[in-house]
Amino acid sequence: MTGSPVNRSTRSPTSAPGGRAGIARQGEAVALRLASLYPDSRCSLEFCSPFQLLVATILSAQCTDKRVNMVTPDLFRRWPTPLLLAAARQEELEEVIRSTGFFRAKARNILGCCGALVACHGGEVPGTVAELVALPGVGRKTANVVLGVGFGVAEGVVVDTHVGRISRRLGLTRRTDAVGAERDLVRVVPREHWIVFSHRLIDHGRAVCLARRPRCATCGLADLCQKKGLESRRSPGSGRGHGKPAASRVQSGPGRKKQSGR
Ligand code: SF4
Repeated sequence: MTGSPVNRSTRSPTSAPGGRAGIARQGEAVALRLASLYPDSRCSLEFCSPFQLLVATILSAQCTDKRVNMVTPDLFRRWPTPLLLAAARQEELEEVIRSTGFFRAKARNILGCCGALVACHGGEVPGTVAELVALPGVGRKTANVVLGVGFGVAEGVVVDTHVGRISRRLGLTRRTDAVGAERDLVRVVPREHWIVFSHRLIDHGRAVCLARRPRCATCGLADLCQKKGLESRRSPGSGRGHGKPAASRVQSGPGRKKQSGR
């Protein structure tokens, strides 16, 4: 394992029946069920190279992949390489990416990131977590996306708002911060599932395990789910009337160094 391995020594905060072995079985069962429910899940960002994926992932912080995909063709047509993008005028870049939100911070991060790629890595995207998180605007989650989706290297689990929320409901973690949730997930989800696990949970979060109104009555994970944070149901089995879910967003803004991007 290269880069900065997730600290596995921290005690799991979960209290699933059967203790640590129980939660590991739960993690494997969830991963296998997700594989059968969402066999075709994949990253929905469009890219042609690790460089494009890195920039697209920075842009995806607090923004939909669909919106990012509308912006990146023009961006990469104007600036097709890290060298050219690093030399872009910030104001021009801001205009191109404006619709993705937080465009000033994202432009700063992209320019800084491309400058570092050119200065430190010969214009190539590095292949370790340690090198990636040292780039401006790149946090652990962005690094995991680039390594997993761009290079096929499983160094961690990408935790976005869907992954964090559903993992807590399932009882795989109690942590509301992305780093803590990832630390728990890599302990309980088999490594061969790490890369696609996030894409599957994201699809599940968009279609079934919605933030405010999870559709538990029709959920393919219902028999595995502890429904943590969903206190009350006014209409049992309808998927409506749940109490408010536990803490929601695990993403941080793109202005922060350790943003969570996707
Ligand atoms: S049973 Fe409900 S809370 Fe649990 S994963 Fe399914 S939709 Fe989400």
